[in-house]
Amino acid sequence: MSQSPAVPRLLIHGVSGRMGQSLLRLAAERDDLQVVAAVSRSKPSQRVLDGLPYFASSELSGVPAFDVAVDFSLAAGFDPILTVCVQRGAALVSGTTGLESAQREALGRAAERIAVLSAANFSLGVAVLEELIERAASALQGWDCDIVESHHKHKLDAPSGTALALGARAEQGGAQPRYASLRAGDIVGEHTVQFTGPGERIELVHRATSRDVFARGALHAAAWLAGREPGRYQLRDMLL
Ligand code: NAD
Repeated sequence: MSQSPAVPRLLIHGVSGRMGQSLLRLAAERDDLQVVAAVSRSKPSQRVLDGLPYFASSELSGVPAFDVAVDFSLAAGFDPILTVCVQRGAALVSGTTGLESAQREALGRAAERIAVLSAANFSLGVAVLEELIERAASALQGWDCDIVESHHKHKLDAPSGTALALGARAEQGGAQPRYASLRAGDIVGEHTVQFTGPGERIELVHRATSRDVFARGALHAAAWLAGREPGRYQLRDMLL
């Protein structure tokens, strides 16, 4: 393994967004990460705020040295942050959902050169839910499997990345999941996985009531990933 930096230097990508603001606030409370740059789509109104330099995504090539980036942006913003991480040899934690297949392939190629950890959901509860779903799906062969997800009305992708990840685990257990999406109000994120058989039904439900859950998980991942060998890491590698 390469030498771990003493306190990993962190770049936050998508800092002006809902997740970015949560990441920024929670990162300031940690002593195992040092935020050195904040990046979002548009040119910042202030270059330096609370001692932290801000950049537009078009200025990524000029950001200071960093060891790990945490990216919670949109699919349209993903390619430049991946490129700069590879150029700088920095690790990448990405929570951005709705990536195109070409972008997922590029992430796979990047993992030959840098450490990457991408997850559609950084909550511990969802990690456990995935295990439960696979177990239920394999025990309930032939039952209908339906995944219903609800999110705030600004969310762009549907079904959510989390719903698709849960569905992939259901498929591993032998189910053929169907999806339904609701976009309403300010819902942070709710997922119900329903298994329906003749005369009975199981519902597994996860409700996130605060974005801090995801931000904490992603920051924990960043501290864990910085300085690791190139490769594609999973949340479960970190939890084991
Ligand atoms: P948001 O719309 O509030 O913020 C998006 C951020 O991305 C902003 O800072 C914006 O400036 C930046 N951005 C948008 N387009 C860009 C571009 N072309 N180039 C550079 N930056 C760009 O969104 P949000 O609610 O904070 O969610 C951000 C992402 O995180 C979404 O993809 C969402 O689905 C995902 N998400 C993942 C998890 C998880 O646990 N993995 C949890 C919540 C949200």
